[in-house]
Amino acid sequence: MVIHQIERRGIRDKRVLEALKIVPRHVFVPESMQDSAYEDGPLPIGCKQTISQPYIVALMTSLLRLEGEENVLEIGTGSGYQAAILAILAKTVHTVELHPQLAEQAAAVLHSLGYDNVHVHIGDGSQGWEPAAPYDAIIVTAAAPEVPKPLLNQLSEGGRLVIPVGPSYVQTLEVWQREGNQFTSERDIPVSFVPLRGKYGWSEEEWNR
Ligand code: SAH
Repeated sequence: MVIHQIERRGIRDKRVLEALKIVPRHVFVPESMQDSAYEDGPLPIGCKQTISQPYIVALMTSLLRLEGEENVLEIGTGSGYQAAILAILAKTVHTVELHPQLAEQAAAVLHSLGYDNVHVHIGDGSQGWEPAAPYDAIIVTAAAPEVPKPLLNQLSEGGRLVIPVGPSYVQTLEVWQREGNQFTSERDIPVSFVPLRGKYGWSEEEWNR
């Protein structure tokens, strides 16, 4: 998976490649999907949600440029797979999930694998997670209509935010960086995510339009 799907597509960050080799992806997908866990695509994880394609996990993670000492926030815990990758690459990970059932399942898997620096929270992550802010890196793994202001505000100085922005079917991966009270942004590749819900997310009606 790492050589064919990820290194060949240009991901060079050695620590990210190593983390992808370490985390057992099959443990994070439903039993009926385990044979497909290392294939080159997203997979259903229940509650109409998906675990992202391995390459997209690698790309988004490398865009955060983690070195090991960061406090990281993930919005959209889902299966917990992305959180496990982050756990290896940063000091602390806070991850927020809207669906209690997914959050509890992910927390159990992460705990069973010993990723004790990951804290799973149930709530509306479109508003960030104020109690543990500021964050050196924030990753949103669901599509937003625009960048939620609270997430920018919860970035530390020099902090980076990676987020898919746009309507259903195709969004643009955006990378934001804080410099003082200024925010710069760059656009990366087109991606396709499930919707971010909540206060700063998509309503069902707007998403299905
Ligand atoms: N990162 C996950 C995949 C996430 S799929 C993994 O590695 O498996 C997107 C997730 O975002 C879904 O689980 C969905 O329930 C969640 N989500 C959507 N809107 C949210 C919100 N406002 N706050 C928190 N989680 C949200």
